[in-house]
Amino acid sequence: MNGEGTGGPSADRREFLRSIGRAGALALAGLAAARLAPRGRGGRDGQTCVNRGVCTGCDAFDECVLPAAISRKAAAGPTLTGGGPTPPAR
Ligand code: SF4
Repeated sequence: MNGEGTGGPSADRREFLRSIGRAGALALAGLAAARLAPRGRGGRDGQTCVNRGVCTGCDAFDECVLPAAISRKAAAGPTLTGGGPTPPAR
């Protein structure tokens, strides 16, 4: 009465356990892929942030291609540089 060999509840249980195993394997593969993927704060074109994401005054700002620097350059326009304070307005 346990359903063995009849395709009954035991077969359903086995298929359920197999599907859990497949889902677990897929989850592990996804985690491994996410771990191996390039990160947003480093590794892009081999560059790593040297100033903890504080672009103001960063010596690397002019040549920096990291997302924080690109956003800051885009927001401020083409004349912005990272070195030194902004000159006072006259
Ligand atoms: S410019 Fe900004 S993103 Fe680039 S290294 Fe300096 S702090 Fe980091």
